[in-house]
Amino acid sequence: MTRIASHRGGTLESGDSTPSAFRMTAALPVDEVEFDLHPTADGHIVVHHDPTLDRTTDRGGEIAMLTLAEVKSARLNHSPGEAPLTLPELCAIFRPTPIALRCEIKAGADGLPYPGFADRVVAELKREGMLERTVFSSFLLEVAAALRPSLWLVSQPVLRQVGAAGVIALARTRSIAEIAVKVDLADAPLRDMVQAAGLEFGVYGAHSAAQIDHALALGVKVMTTDRPGLALERRQNFPKVAVSDVQARI
Ligand code: MG
Repeated sequence: MTRIASHRGGTLESGDSTPSAFRMTAALPVDEVEFDLHPTADGHIVVHHDPTLDRTTDRGGEIAMLTLAEVKSARLNHSPGEAPLTLPELCAIFRPTPIALRCEIKAGADGLPYPGFADRVVAELKREGMLERTVFSSFLLEVAAALRPSLWLVSQPVLRQVGAAGVIALARTRSIAEIAVKVDLADAPLRDMVQAAGLEFGVYGAHSAAQIDHALALGVKVMTTDRPGLALERRQNFPKVAVSDVQARI
């Protein structure tokens, strides 16, 4: 059964990386919660998608240049006046649940990895007692390669330029055991090629019913979705659809 990862807490159902969204996700029977991390200037780790607060809050600024107090003064859009969570606060929400953490290590505003950041994230998850249920993800190949367990998020430009064989070779030479591609680029030949190379295959960006059904039909390991409620509903009903489809073909 394809695992469902609530992306940024379920952006389209409860706001982008809002505390409310993560609490909503914690109450759902999803398998994983996906979230993104950035460092603050004073050594804290904050859960937020963008490297800046510009797009998603009522204030601006680059998180890595701000103190935690400054980040906490921001109010997230599409939230009831909430501020971004710290990593320990996120852990507190999910500790009582069986939900796994899918932790994305982001680049800074300049597109480069934050020096030493991944190691600090690992240490903090360990302190929180949540490292054992964490899988790391990153679009940054060398960051994904340095973490375990991890998956490499293969962007559309990378897949287009390097091709499936090139992506598989890059992953294998770095002992990365899993990759994920945008759901719209996933098809049976790509899935088969990745799996035949001994890698696990997942998709991201499965937000519409059609995209969710596509991921389910391919039987990928895991999909991230901004609509976890919809994905759970589609998955629950999917076996019936799949069986009747198969019978219709027979
Ligand atoms: Mg992410």
